[in-house]
Amino acid sequence: MSKTKTAKTETNNQKVRQPIVAILGHVDHGKTTLLDYIRSTKVADREAGGITQSIGAYQALYKDKLLTFIDTPGHAAFSKMRSRGAGVADVVVLVVASDDSVQPQTIESIKHIKEAQVPYVVAINKVDKPDSNVELVKAELTQHEVFVEGYGGNTPFVLISGKTGAGIDNLLETILLLAELEELPYQDTTPLIAPVIEAKIDQKKGSLVSVILKEGTLSVGDLIHTPTATAKVRALFNDLGKSINQAKPGMPVQILGFQSLPTVGEVVVPGALDPSLAMPSSSSSEPIVSNDPNTKHLNLIVKADTAGSLEAIRGSFTSDVNIISSGTGDITESDVLMAQATGSILVGFNVRISPSVTKLAEAEKVIIRNHKIIYEILEYIEKRVLKLMEPTIDEDELGTATIIKVFEINGDKIAGCRVEQGRLEIGDTIHLKKADGTSKDARIKFLRIGKDEVKKVGAGSESGVFLFPNLDVQQKDVIIAYKKKLDDL
Ligand code: GDP
Repeated sequence: MSKTKTAKTETNNQKVRQPIVAILGHVDHGKTTLLDYIRSTKVADREAGGITQSIGAYQALYKDKLLTFIDTPGHAAFSKMRSRGAGVADVVVLVVASDDSVQPQTIESIKHIKEAQVPYVVAINKVDKPDSNVELVKAELTQHEVFVEGYGGNTPFVLISGKTGAGIDNLLETILLLAELEELPYQDTTPLIAPVIEAKIDQKKGSLVSVILKEGTLSVGDLIHTPTATAKVRALFNDLGKSINQAKPGMPVQILGFQSLPTVGEVVVPGALDPSLAMPSSSSSEPIVSNDPNTKHLNLIVKADTAGSLEAIRGSFTSDVNIISSGTGDITESDVLMAQATGSILVGFNVRISPSVTKLAEAEKVIIRNHKIIYEILEYIEKRVLKLMEPTIDEDELGTATIIKVFEINGDKIAGCRVEQGRLEIGDTIHLKKADGTSKDARIKFLRIGKDEVKKVGAGSESGVFLFPNLDVQQKDVIIAYKKKLDDL
């Protein structure tokens, strides 16, 4: 139980982190009922009016102390899930129904607990039932090397009823005692370590990944990754479904921003998995358009101060505009999230935008335009529609080059180009136009003529061009170096 004791309290400002608790046991022995009872009676933030959203774990408050409970799925509990629960948790509650005693998944849970060397308490449940037989449970547990008091050992146990709530304060008390013995350090300055406990796709919001912070903090805007997936944190939601800016050690939190879903059980750590993620990408801020080039639409979300002005604005748009949603009132974080999910521009008329909304929009690369004159909104939208029809309308071309040969050095592709017009220069932003009409964006990282590195290559010259990110360049692709006109689009 004291395996982590050595590294403790070496620095004076170390606080103690809230324990992460998993509930394991056989199906139908009452895990969900117990979790629900604690959830509904020990909500950490009563002001918020209870739990609105399941993120795979929740926080309870008992005697001014926070505890994080992992919601293991009840009837669908697979062996993998139970072993993961034991691995993430600081303390495990082994639930055994007193009317059913030790069963196959009880034995399996004991195995996982012992493998993970995690402290645990046996919760002998359903003691309100007339056919409850507590002594039989204690006796049968000894066959699996779990020795509670009176049966040859001192493994803590508590008699409870998840149904009536009897003994549950006692259980929480025991969990806190076990956690105290563990002396879990509160390490907010150490790098993030956060196992994934749930990963799903939400129709509206996109990928939602729940983690529990074992160490470190996590903030909106952070770059993070697991061995298989990367995210720039666009939003964080706590266990009450509320958007927060930062999560602290011990907290469960839901992350919006993963580009692909990591696998449950992977660990989230700081930094980007793929260096190209750190590049400013113009494509993610571009509004989503229909695949059919003849029916391009600009997606908008419109917020206005009054119903009258909203009607006036809505009525002024051309058919190129697709209004995803509109309403009166200030621009909120959920408007930003909806704009992100639908590839929309957020247009406000005479409304307020809080700093946290602006910050989320920046992290999310969502464009917000707030004006006090309707004409200005219409003028802006007209320009955006024009850009949609002709994407390079706000760009000045600096040079074009055709790729005549592709070289590979250490796995990186280098484009051997002939500059057709203008010039290419290190640092230029470029479009790489492919033969099929698609285009990707990058920067020129370096240029080479023969073996010499050069800063600039003029028309008529041939040069090796190295792009960042290192795109999959092919013969006959065209590189167009450009600069944005000052026009504010
Ligand atoms: P799980 O599969 O371990 O999550 O078990 P559930 O929480 O779904 O409980 C299985 C059944 O046992 C449900 O019908 C519960 O209402 C019932 N149950 C759970 N805890 C108690 C208890 O303490 N007393 C009684 N009488 N029934 C309980």
